[in-house]
Amino acid sequence: MPDPAYMAEARRLLCSEWIKDHPRPLEYLYRLTKRGVVRVYPLMKRISPRITERLMIWGEVILKGWIFNCQMCGQCILHSTGMTCPMNCPKKLRNGPCGGVRHDNHCEVIAETLCVWVQAWERSHDMRFYGDDMRILQPPVNHALQSMSAWANMVEGRDTDVPAGWESAARAEGTDR
Ligand code: SF4
Repeated sequence: MPDPAYMAEARRLLCSEWIKDHPRPLEYLYRLTKRGVVRVYPLMKRISPRITERLMIWGEVILKGWIFNCQMCGQCILHSTGMTCPMNCPKKLRNGPCGGVRHDNHCEVIAETLCVWVQAWERSHDMRFYGDDMRILQPPVNHALQSMSAWANMVEGRDTDVPAGWESAARAEGTDR
């Protein structure tokens, strides 16, 4: 029996696995949504920033929550991870699986479910536009953005902002790109 603390990650809502197993239409939907949000968000924000942020959050909680079991990290990289939310990994890994994937491709922590990263890798092969993004090295998740709208953060550029200290640490190690 999985630890209740991991149940949010383990959740699979009605039809959502089937939808994610067809990532190509999801890619088109992502591109369409991105284009729409980039156009509409600034106009809506001019009318009411508070209501706009709320609407964005509701949209993500309902839509992305149902399809992707979105954990509202506020920094969406779905299209770079085979249209599979990496925050569903109980270890919250953003750059591929841990070393504990079971022989049957199931998760080390939640034995009942497939490893999120095995699913992400397989789905990425069916993608037309973003499949190769799987190879991008993702920065650590910025927890300051948790529970915010990832769409709003994308338009505002907050999702690519690096908190103070991160850049210099990367430079010191010679790992910045
Ligand atoms: S916003 Fe974060 S938690 Fe939500 S689907 Fe995207 S990557 Fe997953």
